[in-house]
This record gives sequence, structure tokens and C-alpha cells, in this order.
Amino acid sequence: MITIEKAERLKQLPPYLFAELDRKKAEARAKGVDVIDLGVGDPDMPTPDNIIAKLNEAAKVAAYHKYPSYTGMNNFRETVAGWYKKRSGVELDPLKEVVSLIGSKEGIAHIPLAFINPGDVVLVPSPAYPVYAIATLFAGGTPYEMPLLKENDFLPDLETIPADILERAKMMFLNYPNNPTAATATIDFFKTVVDFANMHNIMICHDFAYSEMAYDGYIPPSFLETPGAKEVGIEFHSLSKTYNMTGWRIGWAAGNAEIIGGLGQIKSNIDSGIFEAIQVAGIEALEGDQSIIDNMRTLYTERRDVLVSGLQKLGINAQAPKATFYVWFEAPQRYNSASFAALLLDKAGIVATPGNGFGDPGEGYVRMALTVSKERLREAVDRIAEAGF
Ligand SMILES: *Cc1c(COP(=O)(O)O)cnc(C)c1O
Repeated sequence: MITIEKAERLKQLPPYLFAELDRKKAEARAKGVDVIDLGVGDPDMPTPDNIIAKLNEAAKVAAYHKYPSYTGMNNFRETVAGWYKKRSGVELDPLKEVVSLIGSKEGIAHIPLAFINPGDVVLVPSPAYPVYAIATLFAGGTPYEMPLLKENDFLPDLETIPADILERAKMMFLNYPNNPTAATATIDFFKTVVDFANMHNIMICHDFAYSEMAYDGYIPPSFLETPGAKEVGIEFHSLSKTYNMTGWRIGWAAGNAEIIGGLGQIKSNIDSGIFEAIQVAGIEALEGDQSIIDNMRTLYTERRDVLVSGLQKLGINAQAPKATFYVWFEAPQRYNSASFAALLLDKAGIVATPGNGFGDPGEGYVRMALTVSKERLREAVDRIAEAGF
């Protein structure tokens, strides 16, 4: 027998706040409760047929069976550059300013390894996708949480970051449209960020996973559209949310050539890129029929309106998000994140995510994902009404 002891990097991880909820969800299912799961941010609809057909075709091409290029097929990266040009008017050198990723999570998790030394600070939003802070810890860096508060429209207040933190800060993560708050950012905000980055010598890593998941005609700006953005940062993106491709693991980072190069160097020592047949299917996703995006928007708009108006009728202060597939709302009086999520599960068989699980400033909030049909959402609202609170 040997003694197996985890490394400090695992021991230092914050407690997994959803463990209790996961246990209760499994328990409810085992008891036969018809659980409505609004907890998971994973599209419920299948990948569009044209993309699947392209994978089928490409999977038969022997040349794609070999090790892919670490940084991504040139065709794929050219397609990404073309997408940016068309969508946002951004010019990118596909070979130097774009790197393919095995999902954007992979790139987010690896980027601090390229630039962060022990003692360096990384500015991370809170509440947030947990990977930004954990990747920082894995690289030996220190995450500094920038609270996203309602009174600031869930944008970080850069003015409140202490001077000694700014001295040590080397990188900042941002994510708009935002998970979990569903907040959006303007180009004016991004301009402030570029000025701030230049003033304090901070690399910006913007996570743009929800770029196309926007409603009522709203088009989220890319960080790279901001004048000077490419001098200070990069943007992570992925096919996961736009094309229902979370299981395919394909994304990219684009922007500043030195930052992209550093990330590529880490990757070339860790992984061997994305299966080329999947990259070919990714090209089809980005260049093929885009009406699927309109269908996706219509679907989530209908669901959003059912859930938000239903919650509002019950006296819950939920607002219709302009983007993302999350509804982020304050738990009713007397409840906190955990107690309201527990009530939803125990009394209504509904899984929602307690906001404090994304960071302390999320306390008091609950997140619901629009990843079930509008009929199920209607039923969820009925069940909450019946349960009372
Ligand atoms: C879903 C999501 C992603 C996408 O992750 P992939 O690894 O590309 O599937 C990235 N960032 C945030 C905030 C997300 O919610």
C-alpha cells in the first residue's frame, strides 16, 4: 500500500458548492420525482444536421485520421478570421492571431500557465464561470475577485481595485454576455477596459461563449471590435452554445499574436489539437446555413418569456435577459441562494443553481437555464406557484 496524497493545487481548491444540490437531485430522481432540471447550461437541442453530415463525410477521409496540427487546421483558422471580419469587422491574421481549442474551457484553463508566475494576480469576475479562478490557482497565481453587482449592471468596478493588487495584476478575465448573470457589456465599457489594460499593463482575456445567443435584435459586441483591443488581449470563443456542440469540443482564441503564441506553446506541450474531421465540421457550422441561429434565438426567446413572465406573476423579480440562456434573479425575501434552491427542489422538483456557488457576490441569487421546453417551463412555474414560498 502506498500513501496517495493530492497535490497542493488540488487541496487548495474551494469547496464544490453544488455537491449538496447534486446529492439531493440524485436522491429526488431515485425517489421517482419527475425532476425539471434548470441547473445545467448545456443546450438540450441536437447539433444541426448539416454539421453532423459533414462530420460523417470527413470521418472517412484518411488524411484526417493523423495527428492534427497543434494550432488548428489553416482552413479552420481562416474560417474563424472570416467569421470575425464578417460579424464584427475585425481583421485577424489566421496563422498568428487565431489558435483552435479543444473547447474554449481548454484554452481558458491553459492560458495562465503561459503567463502567470507564482505571486502574480489575475483579476477574475465573481460570480463567474469557475474556470478563470481555478486555472489561475493551478498556475500558482492569485485570483483577485472583482464583484459583479446589480448596482453596476453586473460589470466590474475597475476603480475599486486596490493599487497594490494592480501592481501585481498581469491578466484579467471578462465574460459578456455573462454567465451566470446574463449581463451584457457595451463597446464603451470595453474601451474603458482597453485604457485600463494599457495603464496597468494587464492582459485581457474575454470569454465570448454566448456571442450569438442574444434576443430582440441585440447583437453583443466582440471585445476585439474595441479600438486597441488587439494590442492588449484576446477573445475566447466556441461552437458549443451557438450550434449545440458542447460535446464536440471545438473552440478558439483570437487576438493579440503574442498572447495567442504563448497559449499555443503551452498547448503544443500538452495536447495534440482537435480531430481534423471535427474542424471540418466546425467550418461547416460557421460557413453553412445560419438560419439555425435564428431558430435557436426564437426558441430561447419563447422559453425566456414563459419563464420570466411566470416568475414575475408569482412576485419574483426576474428580468428577461437580452442574451445567454440564463435567468438570474434574486431569491424572494426570507430566502438565500441555497434555501431557495432547496425549496425549489424539495417542494417543486425543480433544479436551479444557487448563485453563491459562482462566488460570494452571487449570494441571494438563483440561476435558471432555459434548457427545457416551454411546456416544461410552464409546468415549473405552476409547481412553484403550488409550492408557495
Ligand atoms: C459554456 C461556456 C463556455 C464554453 O465552454 P466550451 O469549453 O467551449 O464548451 C465558456 N465560457 C462560459 C462562461 C460558458 O458558460
